[in-house]
Amino acid sequence: MHSYSLIAPAKINLHLEIIGDRPDGFHELVMILQSIELADRIDIQANSTESISVHANHPQVPLDKTNLAYRAAKLMCEAFPDVYNNFGGVDIIIKKNIPVAAGLAGGSANAAAVLVGINMMWELGLTQPELQNLAARLGSDIPFCISGGTAIATGRGEKLDPIQDLTNLWVVLAKYSNLSVSTAWAYQTYRQQYGNTYVSDAEKIKSRTAKLHSSPLVSAIIHKQTKEIGKLLYNDLEKVVLPEYPQVAQLRSAFAETEILGTMMSGSGPTVFALCESEKQALISKQKVKEAINDPNLDFWVTKLSSGGIQVGSTCK
Ligand code: ATP
Repeated sequence: MHSYSLIAPAKINLHLEIIGDRPDGFHELVMILQSIELADRIDIQANSTESISVHANHPQVPLDKTNLAYRAAKLMCEAFPDVYNNFGGVDIIIKKNIPVAAGLAGGSANAAAVLVGINMMWELGLTQPELQNLAARLGSDIPFCISGGTAIATGRGEKLDPIQDLTNLWVVLAKYSNLSVSTAWAYQTYRQQYGNTYVSDAEKIKSRTAKLHSSPLVSAIIHKQTKEIGKLLYNDLEKVVLPEYPQVAQLRSAFAETEILGTMMSGSGPTVFALCESEKQALISKQKVKEAINDPNLDFWVTKLSSGGIQVGSTCK
């Protein structure tokens, strides 16, 4: 029986702009998503039973049917019932390195790894776009987590246009271990406060999308103008999360005081990241923020931008 070991990288948002409500209840978004090397490891193996089981080394990761990795396996069983009957259920083992509920798409990355892993284990031969179509049914960030790299994401976040990968830059991530922000809360609060700015007209949505494609940030990414990239980072959700969580605002200000390319909250937070030119710059920035805030609950990660999505670590028979 085959087993597969997959590497599931986290993502940060270099740009997150909310432009309106969609008929399906989600928000219409215009984003630039970026993979980073901080990653979970997902092992999957056929278990010769009918069930799907989830194991994880982190207390905040649910082990039941709400786990996104479980839901990804369930989706594959439902989409390919004959193959499922032939191979049986799967055991999923999650080794968490990505902080949970942190705005880094950890759950989505795990689900993406399960889709890729089952595609190989069951020898389905699905192409990446086919896998991404399945992924979009489960969650908006999952299609991106499959392919990774640097991409413009529109719609709910599931429509992807890869752009030239940004590599060789470093990031410091910082998150209070005792703080999490509900993604649903952040978007609802944004709707309450900024709903009057929303556009719904298809033409206007198209023109906002086109605007990002020809924006200074995309140009800076393509031309690897790292100082410009740092200055142009943007996240609409900071407008609601920072006032509600002063600790996150303080963390962002502390990074801004250090020598970095730029700083921003990732996704719905509460993780704040600092984009850096080199590992040395990242380590110095981390140390300065650590000393300035001096809180034992503040955790840091120093990692690199990554050009890849889900990678196969190893397979065995
Ligand atoms: P979002 O995609 O909403 O921005 P996030 O990156 O902020 O998510 P996740 O780490 O994906 O945060 O966790 C969000 C919630 O999803 C957690 O509180 C947890 O209960 C649930 N969850 C479900 N499956 C997983 C998983 N495999 N790993 C982590 N959390 C999971």
